Amino acid sequence: MSRAVIRSISGPVLRATASGPFKLREAVEVGPQALLGEVVRLSGEEIVVQVYEDTTGLRPGADVVGEGLPLAVRLGPGLLGNIFDGLLRPLAATGSAFVAPGMRSAAAATFGFVPRVAAGASVSAGAVFGEATGPSGRTQRCICPPDLRGNVASIAGPGEYPETATVCTLRTADGALRELAMSHVWPVRMPRPVLRRLPSTTPLVTGQRIIDCLFPVAKGGKAAVPGGFGTGKTVLLEALAKGCDADVIVYLGCGERGNELAGVLEEFPLLVDPKTDRPLMERTVIIANTSNMPVAAREASIYCAVTVAEYFRDQGLDVALMADSTSRWAEALREVSGRFGELPGEGGYPAYLSSRLADFYERAAIVDTLGGETGSVTVIGAISPPSGDFSEPVTSHTKRYVKAFWALDVKRAQARFYPAVHPLQSYAEDARDFAPWWAESGNGDWWKLRRRFLTLLDEQARLDRMARIIGKDALPVRQQVTLFCADLVNDAFLRQSAFSPIDRVCSPRRQAAMMRLIGKFIDLADAAVVAGVPPEQLARLTSLRPLQRMGEEIADAELGRFATLEADLDREFAALIHAHEARDAAHG
Ligand code: ADP
Ligand code: MG
Repeated sequence: MSRAVIRSISGPVLRATASGPFKLREAVEVGPQALLGEVVRLSGEEIVVQVYEDTTGLRPGADVVGEGLPLAVRLGPGLLGNIFDGLLRPLAATGSAFVAPGMRSAAAATFGFVPRVAAGASVSAGAVFGEATGPSGRTQRCICPPDLRGNVASIAGPGEYPETATVCTLRTADGALRELAMSHVWPVRMPRPVLRRLPSTTPLVTGQRIIDCLFPVAKGGKAAVPGGFGTGKTVLLEALAKGCDADVIVYLGCGERGNELAGVLEEFPLLVDPKTDRPLMERTVIIANTSNMPVAAREASIYCAVTVAEYFRDQGLDVALMADSTSRWAEALREVSGRFGELPGEGGYPAYLSSRLADFYERAAIVDTLGGETGSVTVIGAISPPSGDFSEPVTSHTKRYVKAFWALDVKRAQARFYPAVHPLQSYAEDARDFAPWWAESGNGDWWKLRRRFLTLLDEQARLDRMARIIGKDALPVRQQVTLFCADLVNDAFLRQSAFSPIDRVCSPRRQAAMMRLIGKFIDLADAAVVAGVPPEQLARLTSLRPLQRMGEEIADAELGRFATLEADLDREFAALIHAHEARDAAHG
């Protein structure tokens, strides 16, 4: 055990004179309340400590004590369905948004344990040795910590145990006995080891058309959602948390105002997972570090969250981590760095902003786990750039590490066009890898249609500029049709309300049907114009309205109605062309 005496305190940062050896990143207890902190700098006898709790009332002369261990959290079956603070201490247990100073964890919950190995068996790192079943009836795996292996010396029989109680002892290669519980402790800043990282050719299906069809993110990939105030970041992240096809959701509310998170805290416990008919909360972990909570804990909260996500990945599950917002996290980094007296860099952020962002996003991956299965962590981070300026440091550094970039646009949001993802400012670098997946999901034309939609939207931007100068009616007919079809792609396909009972989640099969139908309309419109039909007649088609409303009106269970709509389109266009040709013949 090492000791130090506090010399000075500045907000969440203190300096102390050490009388024993401390390590960098060592977890420490500070003062009479044993506040949680971490050594962030060593220089000779002086240590600099960042304290994760309110330091009001702390005085110079108080003690800092360390055990030589890094900042770590307890990972176990008690995580799912619960709400924690930035250091993974349970919030619900205290009935308030704050935990008592120096609190480590609540009384451990009890789970039904069933052994999956027998005495004498060898257990490798990350392997499953038992199962834990909680009050919800959901069964989770108990895995051996990634840094431990051995032969089972003894194992508990089936029964109810606290998740921290020893249920298994292992004899390690050096003859020592080590105790295992259903949960284990792991340092938050150290990525959990895996067998190997895999390339990902499977998208995380989000149920949002503009994402899945235009800017998909891989399972195990990373995406950023930058957007100014009120552009829909929180609503989008919540929609993804509710609708994406991950097994486990880790939702991190990081530094936003309490009321931003109130929606999640109130709504999630009431939601039902359509896939299992069970409460959505049962597969969700919420980590809340709102703006009124200690600022240094916010810095640690994203590493806690990604460690939790990796823990579920290591059980062979697909995990999605949503962080709202990484800008608030970066602000915490900036504030704490300022207290250290570090030289500020770009935008006042410390020079290591970029490498810290990399540390976080690099932990997203699809992997072969140590336990011999496949699991993934997909990371989706919101960014709130000051005054919506995407050239600021957090956005520009994040761009270096993410593959998918969903830029939320103020103009779209103001026009109440949601999700306000801008189709020309957004991108998905590895989109092409998902074409085989889409072909298997009934949309062999996905890549072709995607390119067609994007080209159309790009032309629309160009033509809109021209139309503003010369007037829309002065554009050649082909270009008028282009504008008409681009509007249709926007209104009938990309627009999707997070509050529509039918449309808030769109299955890949329905996305494919809608995409094909719009592709069909574009083909028919092109053919009609080539046949000489004036473009203004397109707006008068009776099947246009149902086409524009199909997202809100045709549910996942009624895909047959798309075929009916397609037949209507075919018939109406044939009639239009026929009438036009007949008129031409009469005039000729
Ligand atoms: P931000 O987190 O970027 O500040 P919010 O996510 O809180 O913005 O969104 C602001 C408002 O915009 C919401 O309260 C809601 O009314 C509207 N909104 C945002 N996204 C959607 C959506 N996908 N569907 C419908 N309405 C939305
Ligand atoms: Mg928000």
